[in-house]
Amino acid sequence: MKLYTPKTGEYNFVMAYPAIEEFALSSLGYLWLYKIADEKQGINAVRISTDNVSINFKEVDSLAFSLSFDFDCLGVLEVLDKLSIPFYAKDRNEYLPLIFAGGPVITTNPKPYEAFFDFMIIGDGEEIFDKILDILKLKLSKKETLNQLSELEGIYIPNKQCKKASVSLNNVIYTPIISEKSYFKNTFIIEVSRGCMNRCAFCTASFTNLPYRYYEYDKIIDAIELGLKHTNKIALLGAQISAHPQFNDIMSYIRNKIENGQNIELGISSLRTDSVTADTVKTLVLGGQKHSTIAIEAASERLRKFINKNLTEEQILNAVKIAKDNGLKGLKIYSMIGIPSETYTDIEEFISLAKKIKNENKGFNIEFSFSTFVPKPQTPLQWSKREDIKSLEKKQKFLEKELSKIGINSKFSSAKWDYWQTVLSRSDENITPALVEIYNNGGKIGAYKKAIKGLNIDITKSVEGFDFNEELPWDFIEMPPAKQILINEYKRLCKFV
Ligand code: SF4
Repeated sequence: MKLYTPKTGEYNFVMAYPAIEEFALSSLGYLWLYKIADEKQGINAVRISTDNVSINFKEVDSLAFSLSFDFDCLGVLEVLDKLSIPFYAKDRNEYLPLIFAGGPVITTNPKPYEAFFDFMIIGDGEEIFDKILDILKLKLSKKETLNQLSELEGIYIPNKQCKKASVSLNNVIYTPIISEKSYFKNTFIIEVSRGCMNRCAFCTASFTNLPYRYYEYDKIIDAIELGLKHTNKIALLGAQISAHPQFNDIMSYIRNKIENGQNIELGISSLRTDSVTADTVKTLVLGGQKHSTIAIEAASERLRKFINKNLTEEQILNAVKIAKDNGLKGLKIYSMIGIPSETYTDIEEFISLAKKIKNENKGFNIEFSFSTFVPKPQTPLQWSKREDIKSLEKKQKFLEKELSKIGINSKFSSAKWDYWQTVLSRSDENITPALVEIYNNGGKIGAYKKAIKGLNIDITKSVEGFDFNEELPWDFIEMPPAKQILINEYKRLCKFV
C-alpha cells in the first residue's frame, strides 16, 4: 500500500535494490528515494530487486541502486546481468541507461565500485535526489548530464573530488509503502534521528553522519499518527534514538495511547546500555516486545575505553536488571571480538561478566551474539590491522565452550565473511575486476579467494592496515571530521592499549 499518490511521465526511472524484495521493502532510505521519484511529475518510476527484475517498459533512461552492505555489490551485478546491461560504465554507450548509486557503502568508500556507475551520491540523499531527477528528466547527453550533476554538492563522478551532502532533518522520513512482503511485515518505520554523538571509534553510523541530528517532537508525533491510520505496527529508527531530547515524551505519548486501549505494536532497534530506563522498557513491553538488544561492543572495560564505548560493568549489569525487572523475557547482548590489542585476559573478563549476568538474572533469557571487528573507512580505527581468521575462530570456539558451561547460548558471525567484508570496505579500484569474477563464479566464499589469487590482486593493505602518512583510497571525500582529527583520536585511544 502506497501512502502517497504516484504520478507518471515519459522519463523511465528504475530504483533497484541489490538484494531480494523482502529486504527492499524494509529499507527506509531506498523506499523514501523511490517515493520521491514516484511522486514526481514527468517520471515513470519502477522498483526492482534481485528476485524481481521485471520491467514493464522497453527503455530504461536511468537506474539507481542503494547499497547498505558491502556484499550488496554482487546484487548490483546480478540486477545488471538480468537486465543484460554491461557492468562497467565505460562499456555502456549513449543509448544505454545512466546508472548511479548511493547509500552507506558508497558514502564510506565508493572506490571498489565506482567503475560500475556513472555517478554516485555521497552522504544524505533525500534533498539532492530531487535535483538529480530534475537534471535527468532533461534527457541531455550523458556528458552534459554529468556536467550539470557535477555542480551539486554530494555528487561524486569517478576520479573527481567530492564533498559529502548533509541535510538538516525537516520532514520526517517514514515507510512510504507498507507491505506484508517486507522483512518487517506491515511495519511503519519512522526515522527519529540520524547519526550518533557517541563516536565509538569503529562506527561508520556515527562518523559518516556527523553531526547528530533529530526531528522535532511534533513532526515525529504527526508521523506516528499517520502510520497508525494504516497499521498498528510502529518502529522507531535511529542509531541513537534515546539521545533525542524528547525521547521520553515520545515514549510516553505511545504508552498513553496503549494504556487508553489502542492496539500498538512498538519496536525500537536496540536499547542504549547506559540509558535504559524502566519507563522505556515498560513501554516496549506494553507494545508487545518480549526481547530486546543491548550492544556492549567489546570484551573488557579496557577495550571499551579503547573503542570509546566507555561502558562500565556496573552499567551493563544495571541495564540487564532494568530489562528483566520491567517485563522483558530476554535480552540479546551484542559484542565484538578481534578489536586491536584484545587478548585472552579481555575475553576472560567477558566470561566473568557473563557469569555475573547469569547469576544475577536467573530465569531471564540471555543470548550473546558476536561479530568480529571489521576496520571501517572514515573512522578512527580505519588504519587498524584485521586479526587473522584462525586466531578469531579459536577465540570463538573458546567463548562458545565457556559460555555454554554457564548455560548461555552464543552466536557468532563468520570470521571468513567478516574478513572479506574488511577487504571490500578498505579496497580501492584495483579490486573491481575481482568483484566481477566473484559474481561470475557464484559469489560463494571460495570464489573470493580464487578471484583475488587468479587476478593477482594485492589486498595486503586492506587486511594489514595503513600508516598515518599514506593516502587512503577514500581520502578524496571531503567529510567531517578532518583526517587529522581521526588521527588524533586514534592516538588518544592508544593510551588504553
Ligand atoms: S553508540 Fe552505537 S551507534 Fe553510537 S557510535 Fe557507538 S556503536 Fe555507533
